[in-house]
Amino acid sequence: MEQIDAPFQALPVVDPDSRPFWEGCRRHTLLIQRCADCGQLRFPPAPLCWRCRSWEYTWEEQAGRGTVYTWVSVHHPIPPSMAPLVPYVVALIDLEAGVRMPTRLIEVAPDVMYAGMPVEVRFEEVSDEITLPLFAPSESGDAGGAAIQARA
Ligand code: ZN
Repeated sequence: MEQIDAPFQALPVVDPDSRPFWEGCRRHTLLIQRCADCGQLRFPPAPLCWRCRSWEYTWEEQAGRGTVYTWVSVHHPIPPSMAPLVPYVVALIDLEAGVRMPTRLIEVAPDVMYAGMPVEVRFEEVSDEITLPLFAPSESGDAGGAAIQARA
């Protein structure tokens, strides 16, 4: 995959709520918030549980495996600096943990995409602060359920 200059990408803004998530990505660890009161997993990070309104939460490491819920193939580069990457795939991934995450897929051609495609996280460092959790087709060929069970 061709690298592009980080300043020309629309990089995420790290705020106090999302800082642990981005610090986890820098360590190549996918951390998802879990409400400490009702147990609800949530993404994106937020200070308050949408389910029970608790302010208490923990961060939980996830295996970074899931399936494609839906996707779009980008053929027109916005911004223009993304031109070396087109066509590329932006997708919503259903993580096995039970949260849905927007991301960019790599190592896959847009014309072979399908709903339910097993994918796994690939961390791509784009700046000193930001490492993006991108996804690629799973090497194991399944959604990785057995691997996640083995790690639990
Ligand atoms: Zn809750």
